[in-house]
Amino acid sequence: PRLPELAESESELEFESTLRPSRLGDFIGQEKVRNQLDLLLRAAEMQHRTPDHILLAGPPGLGKTTLAMIVAEETGQALRLTSGPALQNAADLAAVLSSIVPGEVLFIDEIHRMARTAEEMLYLAMEDFRIDIMVGKGAGAQSVPLELSPFTVVGATTRSGLLPAPLRDRFGFTAHLEFYQDEELERVLERTAALLDLESEPGALGEIASRSRGTPRIANRLLRRVRDYALVHGTSISHEAVAAALKLYDVDERGLDRLDRAVLDTLIRRFRGGPVGVRTLAVTVGEEPDTVEAVVEPFLVRIGMMARTQQGRIATPEAYEHLGIPLPPL
Ligand code: ADP
Repeated sequence: PRLPELAESESELEFESTLRPSRLGDFIGQEKVRNQLDLLLRAAEMQHRTPDHILLAGPPGLGKTTLAMIVAEETGQALRLTSGPALQNAADLAAVLSSIVPGEVLFIDEIHRMARTAEEMLYLAMEDFRIDIMVGKGAGAQSVPLELSPFTVVGATTRSGLLPAPLRDRFGFTAHLEFYQDEELERVLERTAALLDLESEPGALGEIASRSRGTPRIANRLLRRVRDYALVHGTSISHEAVAAALKLYDVDERGLDRLDRAVLDTLIRRFRGGPVGVRTLAVTVGEEPDTVEAVVEPFLVRIGMMARTQQGRIATPEAYEHLGIPLPPL
């Protein structure tokens, strides 16, 4: 779809949703997951049944919501979006489930944050397409079974380890999304640039890609900032625009942002390079432990600047070098 002229008021969400590929064939990278999903959906179609429940695990911004939407699109089914934090008790989930239409794809983002009571209801719903609803109060309370139409749950989590085993077991297929290669991110950016009608210097999108923490959402966001810069300075997406805009937004040559550097700096200076628990680290930099654990840590580990040990997290020599801090004597 063509974008309307980009108004300054376009919100991040609108921006993201315009860029979402809607078919599996347009989804870039994650080849293994794509092939697995393709097989799963095609087999279900041939057998005229709803696809198995699908769990998507991986850091934010790698395409979990996009894949859920693709599942609905590819199967031609309705999609409903909810999230773990919105399901704070069994009644919240009962309200969603009792209005499900046959074949619907129910996307539950941050499924690890669902309330326990809702979780237990979901087990039964996923397994038997049935729930028990409590009617009345006190001594007169009764449990009434309710049959549901078959549907497909697509759950997303940044922390598959936090999901209780019984819930994990209800998913016929779990996809672990990996960080993207730079070439793949470059293709994501080429697609975005085409959708936004942006001209770019050869190599400039690759430069943005290599500083995007392996994450399509970040790549698109950085491109948007560079676009702003290019617009204001009357240039194309040039190397100069990339360098200047990313500097302005504190994204360094390796793609580390202010928080990544703060975490490493704290780890090295306050905790002598570790080991230290990730929660302690988060509290010390004044950030949510969930964010440090789901976003910062996986990236720093992936680029070899942080390592996980039994005792906690440690800074690697690469981290000292990157921050320009001399290694302590052995
Ligand atoms: P998540 O749900 O994992 O946080 P999203 O599905 O919301 O991530 O993706 C974030 C943004 O990145 C969206 O705008 C989406 O279009 C883009 N994106 C993610 N994965 C891909 C991909 N494989 N190809 C193209 N764009 C992608």
